[in-house]
This record gives sequence, C-alpha cells and structure tokens, in this order.
Amino acid sequence: MRIMLLGCPGVGKGTQAKIISEKWRIPTISTGDILRAAVSAGTPLGKKVQSIMTAGELVSDDIVMELVKNRVAEKDCQNGFLLDGFPRTIQQAEGLLQNHIDLDFVLDIKVPEEDVVRRLTGRRLHPASGRIYHVDYQPPRLAEKDDVTGEPLVQRSDDTEETVRKRLAVYHAQTEPLVIYYQKRAATANMPRYVEINGVGTIDAITDQITQAITH
Ligand code: AMP
Repeated sequence: MRIMLLGCPGVGKGTQAKIISEKWRIPTISTGDILRAAVSAGTPLGKKVQSIMTAGELVSDDIVMELVKNRVAEKDCQNGFLLDGFPRTIQQAEGLLQNHIDLDFVLDIKVPEEDVVRRLTGRRLHPASGRIYHVDYQPPRLAEKDDVTGEPLVQRSDDTEETVRKRLAVYHAQTEPLVIYYQKRAATANMPRYVEINGVGTIDAITDQITQAITH
C-alpha cells in the first residue's frame, strides 16, 4: 500500500500518518520531519535548508527528491509507505514517475483555511516523542509541559501566524496544482486513485474515512 497525503499545512496529515502507519504497518516518510531532523543535528543539509524552512518556503525539488528516493529504497518500504508532505510540486510528482515510484492512493485532506491557521498557530510539540498538543483543542495537563515527561513543549519556528500565512500562499501557488494533476491521472490512468477526505471532525472520524477509502 503506497499512500500519499495531500492537503495544505495543518489539515492533520501528520496525525493521520501516525495512525495509518501503525494500523497498516507501513513507514511514514515525512520530508518535513527528515529536514527538521537535519536542522536539529546541524548537518550540512540542515544548514542549507534552515532559513528556507523558517521562512515557510519550499526546499529545492532536487534535495527532497533525493531524500525520498533513498528512503523508499530502504527495506522497510518493501510493502509500502505513506508519504506526508511530498510531493509538493508538479516537478516532485514527475520525479516520482521518473524514478518508478508508484502510488496507489492520493488522499486529499480538506479543511477551511481559517481553521488551519488556528490549528497551526496553537500547535505545540514535545520534540523527543513527537507528541502533538494544541493550546485550545488538546491542551497538555500543565500549560506548555509534556503530559508524560513534564518537559517543555515547543512551537515549530514556522508555526507563527506570519509564516503560516506564507506557507498557505506557497501551498496555493505550488502544491494545489497537484489536485488537478492527480485528479486527471486518476481519470486517465486509473492510478493512483484520488480520494477527497473531509478533515473537519474527530481524529477517529477522519481515520474512518481514510480506512474506507483505501479498503474499497
Ligand atoms: P511540513 O512539516 O511538511 O509542513 O514541512 C515543513 C517545511 O519543510 C516546509 O515548509 C518546507 O520548507 C520543507 N519541506 C517539507 N517537505 C517539502 C517538499 N516536499 N518540498 C519542498 N520543501 C519541503
């Protein structure tokens, strides 16, 4: 099962990716997570992409394509994988085709834009575990502290309102064309299948829609 999650920042791709990965025993490949890990580790790649990410812009197609190509070649991807945040441009989608990396499903998660802004600007993370909170919708027991370890939560440097607006503009300009691109491919080549998912509702309700989409 090779799945790609499409949708603008903040629609819940990361949350659903975690659940689907566990349920279907396929690894999640999140280019954002790979790049953030490189930034934290201070690698040459991390140094190159840090300012681009903080500005909410896209890293070059060549860099992310190389990361994905290497990652899907690893053994744990033999039975499938879930792409979260890749492809984000038509060029990256074409890169998948050129490298014979086929997808079975493109799941396009939709949430109204103002909800997304609220979700992202209130998002907090516990970096060591990947646990995600929201200051209003899923607050930690103690403000700004992880429930399990008590360690401080952090806000992603690109979750400030200004950068969120920038990321949404980048999504509309560079990533949204993939909606038509994959709708057309589904209609002509029948692969990958394109399914729209309503991203408003409980986490379970959204997981149910995804499960329904990939099992029918
Ligand atoms: P995300 O965690 O998916 O929101 O990604 C965070 C940031 O990483 C993005 O705003 C980009 O700067 C960069 N990034 C992640 N995935 C890609 C991609 N497929 N193409 C270009 N830049 C990416």
